[in-house]
Amino acid sequence: MSAGDDRRRIPSVDTLLQSEELADLLAARPRSLVLSALRRTLAGIRAELAAGVRDGVPAVSAIAAATKRELIELDRTSLRRVINATGIPLHTNLGRAPLPAAAVEALHDIAGGYSSLEYDVGRGRRGSRHDHCAALLMALTGAGGSLVVNNNAAAVMLALNELADGREVIISRGELVEIGGSFRVPDIVAKSGARIVEVGTTNRTHPADYERAIGPHTAAVLKVHRSNFSQTGFVTEVDIGELAAIAHRHDLPVVHDLGSGLLPDAQQTLGLPWEPNVHASLCAGADIVTFSGDKLLGGPQAGVLLGRQDLIDRMRRNPLLRAVRVGKLTLAALEATLRLWRDEETARAGIPALQMIGADSDALRSRAERLASALRERAPRAKVEVVRDVSEVGGGSYPGLQLETWCLEVTLSGRSERELESACRKVEPPVIGRVRQAALCLDPRTVLPDEETLFVLKVAEALEGDG
Ligand SMILES: *Cc1c(COP(=O)(O)O)cnc(C)c1O
Repeated sequence: MSAGDDRRRIPSVDTLLQSEELADLLAARPRSLVLSALRRTLAGIRAELAAGVRDGVPAVSAIAAATKRELIELDRTSLRRVINATGIPLHTNLGRAPLPAAAVEALHDIAGGYSSLEYDVGRGRRGSRHDHCAALLMALTGAGGSLVVNNNAAAVMLALNELADGREVIISRGELVEIGGSFRVPDIVAKSGARIVEVGTTNRTHPADYERAIGPHTAAVLKVHRSNFSQTGFVTEVDIGELAAIAHRHDLPVVHDLGSGLLPDAQQTLGLPWEPNVHASLCAGADIVTFSGDKLLGGPQAGVLLGRQDLIDRMRRNPLLRAVRVGKLTLAALEATLRLWRDEETARAGIPALQMIGADSDALRSRAERLASALRERAPRAKVEVVRDVSEVGGGSYPGLQLETWCLEVTLSGRSERELESACRKVEPPVIGRVRQAALCLDPRTVLPDEETLFVLKVAEALEGDG
């Protein structure tokens, strides 16, 4: 029989809707939802028949089952909680920093009701959303002005648009970086309206390179932290202090895109190697620094601009700000996170991303041992070993830094490591691990303390199931 004949033999929508098999679905859900799922299912069958990849028309029961799968897919929320067992604390694909409990509480408090978002409660009149985190940010960093926008990409774009729209921005060729696929420095500069003037080479840029490029159309100098890779060997760059001195001799502002935004003393707090921090950059002469809220700061997605008050005031009046402004949820979570940063101890104790990054290797090992024995108990067929490995910080922070870590290495006879990795993604909530040397590798560094029991249960479910 031809595909055309088969297509005509597909039962009509009306016949199917009246069938016993679809009655259950109709009883539980609005008719319009069932109808559209049924139509999608039938369209799929028709397409398969036309393409010759299906033999004959499926039975009504099979069509109903396929419709039900469509509906279940629709019922599932798209943005779902997952358990991060990759060991990468600032995993961009998994939402970067998990919020501190204090930030979650602030969200809870603000989200369901009204707030003083743009209202000055003391004076009983209109206020500005841009005032909320400003004083705290200035106190923490010593900056003269501050502004919070949607993310760091928006911060860079706003700064350059205000300072250099229609004019030139000088940047080193070694800093024309791409971060996470969608942020490319040259593209953001172009969208800001500024023209990019590249100086130096990929590996070496000297003060004279900047000096030579400065001309009548120059409006600003941009320095970008190479936050997701490191250069070694025959390399040199102009540090922010020297760059600021050059720019200031020509009355030009310097914008420093830091990426991560370590606040003062965080280096000591974390016990990690040097990473450019906001305070140091401002002290060295940067006129504007920008960074993300959800990297080393450990808060919500946001972009922070700090620096000279006169420049920040101009940015506050820029119409582009309206397009990249933050909402009350971001401000609530960011303010709560910043409050933790007022004190090193509260920051260290209260910010999950910091705890994960700074976790002690011995503590990680004993935690891995504990989770491994719980897992062996629940999934006796699997082989679970605790092995030494390294994890990265992720999220464009500390490129090349390897944190010593302890992973659960899981194998199961009859199932490949890829099958195990995918089985872990199919449980609810999904557990995201990785494949390493013919085994499923689960790094507990990024499993939150209150997720431990669930982690063991879900991994066991994935291992013991037959999918
Ligand atoms: C991460 C990063 C960005 C992009 O920040 P988002 O907050 O993701 O927009 C820009 N510049 C640098 C140097 C970065 O590390």
